[in-house]
Amino acid sequence: DRSLADTDPEVFEAISAELVRQQTTLEMIASENSAPVAVMQAQGSVLTNKYAEGYPGRRYYGGCEHVDVVEQLAIDRLRALFGAEYANVQPHSGAQANAAAMSALLQPGDTILGLDLAHGGHLTHGMRLNFSGKLYDVAAYHVRPDDHRVDMAEVRQLAHERRPRLIIAGWSAYPRQLDFAEFRRIADEVGAFLMVDMAHFAGLVAAGLHPSPVPHAHVVTSTTHKTLGGPRGGVVLATAELAKKFNSSVFPGQQGGPLEHVIAAKAVAFKLAGEPAFRERQERTLAGARILADRLLAPDSRAAGIDVVSGGTDVHLVLVDLRQSELDGRQAEDRLHAVGITVNRNAVPFDPRPPMVSSGVRIGTPALAARGFDRDDFTEVADVIAEVLRPSTADDRLAGLRARVSRLADRHPLYPDLTEVRR
Ligand code: PLP
Repeated sequence: DRSLADTDPEVFEAISAELVRQQTTLEMIASENSAPVAVMQAQGSVLTNKYAEGYPGRRYYGGCEHVDVVEQLAIDRLRALFGAEYANVQPHSGAQANAAAMSALLQPGDTILGLDLAHGGHLTHGMRLNFSGKLYDVAAYHVRPDDHRVDMAEVRQLAHERRPRLIIAGWSAYPRQLDFAEFRRIADEVGAFLMVDMAHFAGLVAAGLHPSPVPHAHVVTSTTHKTLGGPRGGVVLATAELAKKFNSSVFPGQQGGPLEHVIAAKAVAFKLAGEPAFRERQERTLAGARILADRLLAPDSRAAGIDVVSGGTDVHLVLVDLRQSELDGRQAEDRLHAVGITVNRNAVPFDPRPPMVSSGVRIGTPALAARGFDRDDFTEVADVIAEVLRPSTADDRLAGLRARVSRLADRHPLYPDLTEVRR
């Protein structure tokens, strides 16, 4: 068989260039991570060839004896990792996990109550162009204007007024922890299901560094590629009681054949997430985010119009608030890109600028922690970011800052042994 380089030089070159980009820059998009080589090996395996509609031991195709082993390992490890009675590892993505969970519990037209996208929620929690906003009647709760914490009084009030069938707790851009027990109390008051979407903080939960939603929620969904550090994909966790409903909602409800190569990679990631090194890495993830928040709250940054949403962080990300800054979110993203730091601009709560511009950047530490960054490294990154975000930092200083970023990247080589995509 011909190699990728011989078969398709254009794709080969683009993948090689992406490897070099990841190696030479600092990845600080909060939803990203650097998957271990073992995870990528599993994902790039012959399992991609296999059809396996159904579940382990109950397939609609022959020849599933080995993928059954793989999928059962993934299920058992995931259940053990989070102490869940039931796990489904087949959703192709976080969005599909959410679609499956909602279609299992809801009828079209039912009301859902989730965090407003503009205040840190996810598209699948009721955005009008998403399936969730089209199929369901959407009510949205918000964060408070003073401390940027989810307004639980509003959640309770909306729950009683709108009588949702499903309440969604979870977020894509929120720097604090949610009170799952209070969400469940509210859900019980109005007879709603509680779904927690822990896509962002699943790795912290696995490491025991964030409260677990599993004891409180009827269903927990997640991605596997964010703090959890696995392949791109989704999962559903629930009580045994709901197992049948969710199994049939994922397949045949939402999907056909499962991606067994991705499920193998999930199994590897769940194994790693149970090891002490994973907890240590999540501790550095949290420490890095705190160092960054503290640095951006220092007097020189504050004087430059920089603030931090909610005044800090309890998780793996910092939401920088540029509402008082001359720089908008897009300019901040571009300037950080120019020095080799990749982030995404993000609306902050009560953002006066339009979403395409926005007044914030979301900065996360999981990928750098995976790369081995320690407190000193995070302190250096935070200094560089603080300088880049000061509007008074002239463009001609950016080259010097780029050199500091390169030194950090060199100190922690990423995928040093990865030769597959080199000629
Ligand atoms: N749920 C939350 C909270 C997310 O942040 C995301 C991704 O950003 C998703 C679900 C969707 O995951 P995916 O991109 O795999 O569909």
